[in-house]
Amino acid sequence: MGLTLTVDGPRWRDHLRAYADAAPGLVPVVKGNGYGFTPGRLARRSEWLGVDTIAVGTYEELPEVASRFDGSLLVLTPWRPFLPDLDPALASRVIHTVGRVDDVDALLTRQPGARMVLELLTSMRRHGFAPRGLWEAAGHLRRHPGARLEGLALHLPLAQGSHLGEVRRHLNDAVGAGLDGLDTVWVSHLTRDELTTLRSSYADFTIRPRAGTDLWLGDRGALSVTATVLDVHEVDRGDSFGYRGRTVPKSGHLLVVSGGTAHGIGLEAPMGDSSIKARASTLARGGLDAVGFVRSPFSIDGKQRLFAEPPHMQASMLFLPAGARVPDVGDQIDVRVRYTATTFDTITVS
Ligand SMILES: *Cc1c(COP(=O)(O)O)cnc(C)c1O
Repeated sequence: MGLTLTVDGPRWRDHLRAYADAAPGLVPVVKGNGYGFTPGRLARRSEWLGVDTIAVGTYEELPEVASRFDGSLLVLTPWRPFLPDLDPALASRVIHTVGRVDDVDALLTRQPGARMVLELLTSMRRHGFAPRGLWEAAGHLRRHPGARLEGLALHLPLAQGSHLGEVRRHLNDAVGAGLDGLDTVWVSHLTRDELTTLRSSYADFTIRPRAGTDLWLGDRGALSVTATVLDVHEVDRGDSFGYRGRTVPKSGHLLVVSGGTAHGIGLEAPMGDSSIKARASTLARGGLDAVGFVRSPFSIDGKQRLFAEPPHMQASMLFLPAGARVPDVGDQIDVRVRYTATTFDTITVS
């Protein structure tokens, strides 16, 4: 009866299958809250998809997925010397991401047969080697014959025009660095057309796209999120309510619905599909309705409703002005959420 994600299973699975079929070498990303589905569920779904590798964000995420998926496990956060040693049972399945010259040597000293991808510093400027570092890394790799270089990794910004020029520059640098056995490039956020172009201009390389959002959340029509009406109170103008003893500005109903800060429900309504202009005008109004309430992500009868006060830990109070249809206790109402920041009480997949 809490915050529920309902998945139209056949539709979702059709989308996943079609996405994977169109993306050879796909590496599903299952990090964080598992895009709302939990990493464990996405690991099992990846096994069903038949891919040979999935990506997690951190080393801490490995145990949850390792028992649910049999293939290789790429860790996206670069390895650092301060990390604890890997569970020996996992060591041969884990592909490390390495982004600094010193870490190549340090990792191989700790785990001589380590599998690794070398991350290049892209215009994201998050982690990775600059071209000169790659040259030094190639030297370290040569001194550790057990090392298994699994390729290069490029993390590109979300599409703003083509990334191809940048990718080409990096690949040319990498080829120039003389990395022995380099034959794979792991990339994110390239369009299907960009991937096709890249494959034809670098036919010797296997190009492996990492995808999370477009894969798991790519068909929003297969997903619906609902909250349960837990209580309804008729109120008159001037009645006080809530943690801060606020008074009701006009008559209507207070609704207590499931879903609060513990689920990731924030004060600000998510604006996923609204235009910048709509966003600007909401900000200009301070996101407030005429009666001084903030818009909530909960909607009833297709209309986004107002928070009566900031969300509580597991429930939220909404204000429904007089005249609106009042749902019954136990009714489900729609909620718009940011999936990557939401924890659901229940996930139902048909
Ligand atoms: C999160 C992440 C991805 C997947 O990003 P989406 O936008 O969810 O597809 C790919 N690569 C890296 C390095 C990431 O951290």
